[in-house]
Amino acid sequence: MNILVTGAAGYIGSHACKRLLKDGHSVVALDNLLRGHRAPMDLLAARAGGRLTFLDRDVNDTPALEEVLKRHRVESVMHFAALAAVGESVQQPLLYYRNNVAGMVSLLEACDATGVSRLVFSSSCSTYGQPPERLVPIPETCPQHPISPYGRTKLMGEHLLADYAHGQRLAGRPFAHAALRYFNVAGADLEGELGEDHSPETHLIPVVLHAALGRRDGVDIFGVDYPTPDGTCIRDYIHVDDLVDAHVAVLGALKPGDGLAFNLGIGRGFSVRQVIRAACAVTRTEIPTREGPRRPGDPPRLFADPAAIQRTLGWSAKVTDLHRIIESAWAWFRAHPNGYRSG
Ligand code: UDP
Repeated sequence: MNILVTGAAGYIGSHACKRLLKDGHSVVALDNLLRGHRAPMDLLAARAGGRLTFLDRDVNDTPALEEVLKRHRVESVMHFAALAAVGESVQQPLLYYRNNVAGMVSLLEACDATGVSRLVFSSSCSTYGQPPERLVPIPETCPQHPISPYGRTKLMGEHLLADYAHGQRLAGRPFAHAALRYFNVAGADLEGELGEDHSPETHLIPVVLHAALGRRDGVDIFGVDYPTPDGTCIRDYIHVDDLVDAHVAVLGALKPGDGLAFNLGIGRGFSVRQVIRAACAVTRTEIPTREGPRRPGDPPRLFADPAAIQRTLGWSAKVTDLHRIIESAWAWFRAHPNGYRSG
């Protein structure tokens, strides 16, 4: 199949490209390189035998998208391109609405103009906001009340897809789509070639591993007075390869006119202290920690009820051991202590 991957040079997009190429697909990899990296694209292209075309383009460039979809006879889209830092979205909301919401409008306009009728969208558990404790583990039916501009852009993406698909159905052009609501994506390519390289880095596992590498002097624990067994927040960490595997399963199962939404998580949570302890064991390092105040907007416990995708598609996460998730990230960080700049 010919597949457009937007945000292809980012953390999750690059892992998706690798998997799609392995499965024999042809990939048009689009990224504006605002946050993505050229290096993983070059690495994958070098052995793709012409099946990977990298394009340094923005999803808001609708004419360029149309041209790309036509020229490469694209049949399906995996839409990862987005900005994804919650704190930054509070400070620069328009940047987020421009990239994440206007970007989706532009992409759907290009799909409309060229007849592309299948799309898988990276949504987020942040669309649920702070669900009531009784709804954790969180099912897809949990009310979606995001509490950050980032979460709202993802929810708007879901609404855009549903409304566009409805219009297409009325016009007799069924459009199939799926919104995949990610929990905490973590780890790195199990073959060690691809990893996570954000700057600045804010996510817990890479922050802890940066501290283990000496790239920072320690880890701040954001809140130790939560109503959880050890007082720190609990999150559902899903390995990036499992996440990509779910995208492949969903894309393969989409039938004309489908509109699906699935949570992607392992279905259990680990606390901040459990993550730090596991990272100390994996890295054989004493990672210094500082107990600090809560970070605004962090709910105590967030983990998925992943039963729906398991029931519908038979998909479940394979890497559910926290140590293995951290080991995969650690292998990449050790080989690339300065991220992709390390070569
Ligand atoms: N966290 C922390 N220190 C850090 C980064 C994160 O204590 O330096 C906590 C954060 O408060 C949350 C959990 O780790 O409870 C996961 O945070 P992350 O930013 O990785 O993902 P989020 O759950 O916000 O999407």
